Amino acid sequence: MTLRFTTTATDGAARCGLVETPRGRFTTPCFMPVGTRGSVKGLSSADLEALGVEVTLANAYHLMLRPGAEVVAGMGGIHRFTAWSGHVLTDSGGYQVLSLAARVDDDGVTFRSTYDGSTHRLTPERAVAVQGLLGADIQMALDVCPPLSSPPGLLRQAVERTVAWGVRARDAHRREGREGQALFGIVQGGIDERLRAESARRTVELDLSGYAIGGLSVGESRSEMLAALAPTVAELPGDRPRYLMGVGDPVGLAEAVALGADMFDCVLPTRLARHGTALTAAGPLRLRNATFAQDAEPIDPTCPCDVCGRWSRAYLRHQLVVGEASARRLITMHNLAWILALVARIRAAVRAGTLTALRAELANRWAHLPAASQ
Ligand SMILES: [Zn+2]
Repeated sequence: MTLRFTTTATDGAARCGLVETPRGRFTTPCFMPVGTRGSVKGLSSADLEALGVEVTLANAYHLMLRPGAEVVAGMGGIHRFTAWSGHVLTDSGGYQVLSLAARVDDDGVTFRSTYDGSTHRLTPERAVAVQGLLGADIQMALDVCPPLSSPPGLLRQAVERTVAWGVRARDAHRREGREGQALFGIVQGGIDERLRAESARRTVELDLSGYAIGGLSVGESRSEMLAALAPTVAELPGDRPRYLMGVGDPVGLAEAVALGADMFDCVLPTRLARHGTALTAAGPLRLRNATFAQDAEPIDPTCPCDVCGRWSRAYLRHQLVVGEASARRLITMHNLAWILALVARIRAAVRAGTLTALRAELANRWAHLPAASQ
């Protein structure tokens, strides 16, 4: 096993844990900023280090098209290429491929590049090879992620294909066995609770290093998401990390941790930042609003980040209004610092046995922010 998970504290079904890999260790619950094309938009690896990020997410689909997995491998792998010494988890590309109306058959997926329209083929084996070339610490098996509105027959087909592809991914991973790279399987099943439980059971039979829950946060309500998550987690083993894909809003994070999820990624904090919305203890702040034109307060007076330590809302609003790229960068820094601090609070609450109180606080403040989609 190239990855080891140890539970360090529990509060009900919620847990704090330690993930150990050949690269090092990281604590859970954890939030992984999304660096789709090998960088978190607007930030550098040095910025991520300063923020205390332990794991980033990169996207195999984008990197296999530009600059190409072989190019990244030739540059020494994604860590050397991006000058990042922390962990990297790569998504297999299944979600991106399927959201681009690709053609799926039992063997794999054929899709057109978003960059130049050229035709590409992704199979479970090729996805393992691509992520191996990239040098991910944690690979994801190729899955079929059906749209929320899929009829039962399509949901069933997606589960069957995802399980069959999981077997092929595992076998390819064992055969090609790049040292130090772990492989996670992905549970599907839409918001059908019984199908979710079945998909989880059959994915666990693959005996992988960890398990991801995919196909959620795709437009369903938060209560539907949590109702599908609970029976999934119930089937997952306690000694492997559980990664809920695409969830990163404050309430969603806390509620999913309460059900036993450990790892999260979401574009929400960085995407909101680029649109001028900052995350704060009092809820979201739309910094373009004219009311901040002469506001000398930092974004969030309770936030310990460097941006809040130096700049006022008035200055950041001014930068946004005149279109300075630095505004997006600074608000991205704050939003990531804020969400990482929130996840640290969630970990502390699990250790202290006070997660229920924190969930109530977050539900009050963030009720109006919808669950984030990928
Ligand atoms: Zn801040």
